Amino acid sequence: MSVLIVGSTALDSIKTPTAENPRLLGGSASHAAVAASFFAPVKLVGVVGKDFPKKYVTLYKKHRIDLSGLQVQEGKTFHWSGEYEVNMNNRRTLLTELGVFEKFTPHLPTEHKKSPFVLLANIAPALQHHVLDQMAKPKFVVADTMDLWLNIALDDLIRLIKRVDGFVLNDSEAHQLTKEDNVFAALKKLHKMGPKYVIIKKGSHGSILSGPKGAFICPAYPLPKVVDPTGAGDSFVGGMMGYLSTAKGGVDANIRRAMIYGSVVASYCCEGFGLNRTTRVKRADIDKRVSDLERLTKF
Ligand code: AMP
Repeated sequence: MSVLIVGSTALDSIKTPTAENPRLLGGSASHAAVAASFFAPVKLVGVVGKDFPKKYVTLYKKHRIDLSGLQVQEGKTFHWSGEYEVNMNNRRTLLTELGVFEKFTPHLPTEHKKSPFVLLANIAPALQHHVLDQMAKPKFVVADTMDLWLNIALDDLIRLIKRVDGFVLNDSEAHQLTKEDNVFAALKKLHKMGPKYVIIKKGSHGSILSGPKGAFICPAYPLPKVVDPTGAGDSFVGGMMGYLSTAKGGVDANIRRAMIYGSVVASYCCEGFGLNRTTRVKRADIDKRVSDLERLTKF
C-alpha cells in the first residue's frame, strides 16, 4: 500500500555552531517522503517554484517518489532558514519566505484520493483540511504540526485534530496546547480532543505514544554526534507511516515497531545537513540500527 504525504517542499538554509549550508532540499513533506520511501511507495503533494533545482527532483526520483501531485508554479520555492544553538534542541527561525507557498492549494490527482495511508505533514491546518476533504475513506490519517499554527491558526488546528486517527506534536507544543507540564496528563487531554493515537516527540529523548493498547516509550537512537536535526521529526513520522502501510496485521499490532523504524530513520537525518545523509542510507543500515535499539532496550 502506498502513503500519501502532503506538506512543505522547501529550500532550507541552515546554520549550526560549526557550519552553514544554504538552499538544501528541505520541507516537512520532503523529509517525510524520503523516510517513508524506505518502506513503501510514496506519493508526494506540494508546491515548488521555477527556481527549484533539478538535482532535487532527481533525488526524489531516486527514492521512487511519485511526483504527479507536486505543482511547479511561476515564482520562488518556499525558503526557510534556521539557526541552532550549541544545544541542538534549541533552534530559532531566521527567515520564512513563503514564495509559491502563499497561494498554494493542494489539488489531489484522482489516483491519490484513494490512498489508504495519509500523512498530513506540517503545513497550515486549513490546507490539511483541504486535503482531507478530497480523500475517499482513507484507512489511517496522521497529522503533524508546529508551534506557528498553534499561534496563528488554533481553531483550524483543533478542528483538524478531531478529524484524524493520529496526531503527532512535540513536547513544547503539547504543553502549549494543553497547558499541562506532565506529558502523560497532556496525552490524556489530547485524546479528549479526538484522535485514537497521540504521539509526543521529545527530540533526542525519543517519543511517547498513547493508543488503544496503552502507552509506549520509544527511544531515540543514541548518536554521539548530531550534525543537523532539521527534519528529524518529519523523518520520524514519515518512516513510521511508511512502515505501517506495508506491515501485515493493522495499526494496533504494528505501531510500536513502526515508531522504532521512524526513530532510526530520524537518527540518520540528524547525521548530515538537510537530507544529505538520509538519501545515502540503505534499508539494511536501518535494519541494523533497529536491531541495536532492540538490544539496548531489552531487559
Ligand atoms: P522539523 O525540524 O521536523 O521541525 O522540520 C523542519 C522543516 O520544516 C524544514 O525542512 C522547513 O522547511 C519546514 N518548515 C519550516 N517552517 C515551516 C512552515 N511555516 N510551514 C511548513 N514547513 C515549515
